Amino acid sequence: MKFDEIWNAVLGSIELSISKAQFGTWFKGTRILSLEKDSVYIRVPNGFAKEWLENKFNIIILRSLHDLGYPVKEIHCKVDDSFIPKEKVFSEKQSIPTKSIPTFSSEIKNFQPTSKNYQTNSSSNLNPRYTFENFIIGNHNELAYSACVAVYQDLGNAYNPLFIYGGVGLGKTHLLQSIGNAILKNTPEKKVLYITSEKFTQELINSIKNHTVDTFKSFYQNIDLLIIDDIQFLSGREKTQQEFFHIFNTLYQQNKQIVLSSDRPPKAIATLEDRLRSRFEGGMIADINRPDLETRIAILQEKAQQKNISLSDEIFSYIAENITNNVRELEGALTRITALQQFHHITHPTIKDVEDILKEIVSSGKKKAISQEDIIHSISSFYGISSEDLKQKGRKKEIAEARQMAMYLMRKELHLPYTGIGRCFGGRDHTTALHAFEKIEKLLDTDEKTRKDVSFLKEKIYCIE
Ligand code: ADP
Ligand code: MG
Repeated sequence: MKFDEIWNAVLGSIELSISKAQFGTWFKGTRILSLEKDSVYIRVPNGFAKEWLENKFNIIILRSLHDLGYPVKEIHCKVDDSFIPKEKVFSEKQSIPTKSIPTFSSEIKNFQPTSKNYQTNSSSNLNPRYTFENFIIGNHNELAYSACVAVYQDLGNAYNPLFIYGGVGLGKTHLLQSIGNAILKNTPEKKVLYITSEKFTQELINSIKNHTVDTFKSFYQNIDLLIIDDIQFLSGREKTQQEFFHIFNTLYQQNKQIVLSSDRPPKAIATLEDRLRSRFEGGMIADINRPDLETRIAILQEKAQQKNISLSDEIFSYIAENITNNVRELEGALTRITALQQFHHITHPTIKDVEDILKEIVSSGKKKAISQEDIIHSISSFYGISSEDLKQKGRKKEIAEARQMAMYLMRKELHLPYTGIGRCFGGRDHTTALHAFEKIEKLLDTDEKTRKDVSFLKEKIYCIE
């Protein structure tokens, strides 16, 4: 196979296992430069992509190459932005900055803004409560988090505009405001403004009414970092979009930073003017997903510590297993427990206490009782393998993998004994089931795809009608 064909095959399989936003951000413009016995050399458009491909996506890239019969062990990325087509969308400034951030990984890892004393600039509209330090990072928000830190470290240059999208209560506002707070702390002379798109629209309408549109515009054009939250509300408001575009243009040309959030990607915002949409798409787009179970537990533990509440692991698991939608609801659960402690003086609540107090929030998404058959059914439809094949002796690789996953879930979710699990799969030995369980547990630590598969499968199992 030619390099391009190999790479296309690799990209094809990666595209299925990561989100669209991630795929677009990290793999656009990449190709194989050479492929040797042990190493593959990949061309990437910037240093940020290099970091991510070499350190974060290396496992899935290597795995796809292995699947295609290339037992490569190492990935080397070479930064080369000369091939990036210069977009004509924006006539005033044609190329999108693709500045590399060579120290990205070490800086991100060691990144800890120092002082806690915020000189909050009241005109910035920022809430000092939202900081990078108290933002908890998991697989679901890592991309958005690192993009925000990169923007903070190189305002106006790293990614402009930065567009963060995701469902409600997942931390968009927190992250957006963290950039502003960190900037004001380190460079208080900078002009930062946080505004929701509704407020922006309202101000514009007022200025039209009062014939002060020019003042409105010149006010915005002096800002170094403009953060507009929940941009989906601009949708359909033509006049607002036009003014926004002009402000946007001016700021962009002066290398001023713009950060936006929305509940959906730019493509999905109906009636957004094409030039605005393509402008948003020209920068960096990062998504935030729902946190997985482990991350929900980590978030709870961290927040409980901040609130000085001590709870047993069992209670943390109970809350995390039952409240799955977003971080705001997890916080809500802890607030209720705090109340329990403060008003009822129950310092060490039992599961029963917690169940009672969380009844209303939990009941809607309560876990239902599931059976072995539910697991078999979900696995067979997920992997496209019949239940018979799953239970029989066959040793084909895909079947064996699916079977191991089924064994794992039976142990994890139903707490069945290994002997019983073995029996369910064509009378296999209990050591086979034990081995499967341990293998998946290990993969969960190291392999992103396994984590995603497991969390997806769990949701599927518990949702079967
Ligand atoms: P969104 O703007 O996406 O609707 P918010 O930023 O308002 O969500 O987040 C909802 C609540 O959850 C806030 O109190 C925020 O501080 C908290 N939160 C969300 N994600 C995290 C996180 N990763 N770490 C810490 N707190 C978080
Ligand atoms: Mg918000």
